Amino acid sequence: MRGILITGGNGGLGLAIGRYFLERDVEAIVRLGIHSRREAADALAAEFPERCETLELDVTSAADWANAAGVFPDVAVLVNNAGVHKDALLTTMKDETWSSVISTNLDSVFLGCRAVIPAMMRERHGRIINISSLSAILPPLGQTNYAAAKAGVVALTRTLAKETARAGITVNSILPGYIETGALDDMDEETRKAARARVPMRRFGKPAEVAAAVYFLASEEAAYITGAALKIDGGIY
Ligand code: NDP
Repeated sequence: MRGILITGGNGGLGLAIGRYFLERDVEAIVRLGIHSRREAADALAAEFPERCETLELDVTSAADWANAAGVFPDVAVLVNNAGVHKDALLTTMKDETWSSVISTNLDSVFLGCRAVIPAMMRERHGRIINISSLSAILPPLGQTNYAAAKAGVVALTRTLAKETARAGITVNSILPGYIETGALDDMDEETRKAARARVPMRRFGKPAEVAAAVYFLASEEAAYITGAALKIDGGIY
């Protein structure tokens, strides 16, 4: 059996990634990290009672990560997926708006990797996939906090990939463009239209289209891919 830990497991992408593993890999035991909401994660766990469960995991909490690593010492695949954006122009951005976005998107990846890597090193095998964002390389205005955090995730990924390369652990990041999840709920119809017009494919991505890439990067076939930053955006950049 293969332990897969996915943070932000009640969100649009987290659920899609969990489902992707559960439907394709009978060896996958999926643990969905949950935060303030849990209904959708509970529903997925109920659908696969033998192979899917939830655990409370605030990704900004080192104590929660220590608990997760203790409860699940067999994490073979870590998907650092939890994230949040709180857009504001820098000159009016509140301290909390800056620090909470940095903490949830970037500190979380540091804490998560540090928590699971010792066990992966003992196994001489592991897969870490960090969900960054296209904003890391093509940021819109209003996202200094989010873009800095997501660019940090790409840089952390590249560095950590070098540190773990000889231990059989790969570390890669994915940079999604616009993906149809709750994260886009705050866009009104006009903004959605303008956003869609920016995408050469003229549509937003489906969560399963990101999940498919996570699944591949977690596979044995992807053993030689590490430190990569894979954008999935319908050709925007
Ligand atoms: P959602 O808003 O649907 O999901 C985000 C998830 O992160 C939620 O489950 C949320 O839990 C969780 N989360 C937030 N804060 C914390 C925390 N402190 N601890 C643990 N979990 C937390 O958005 P997506 O599924 O779309 O986002 C998934 C990832 O993809 C994010 O990292 C996002 O930045 C990235 N991304 C998404 C894009 C898109 O277009 N959808 C584009 C580029 C990147 P809760 O609701 O319970 O707080």
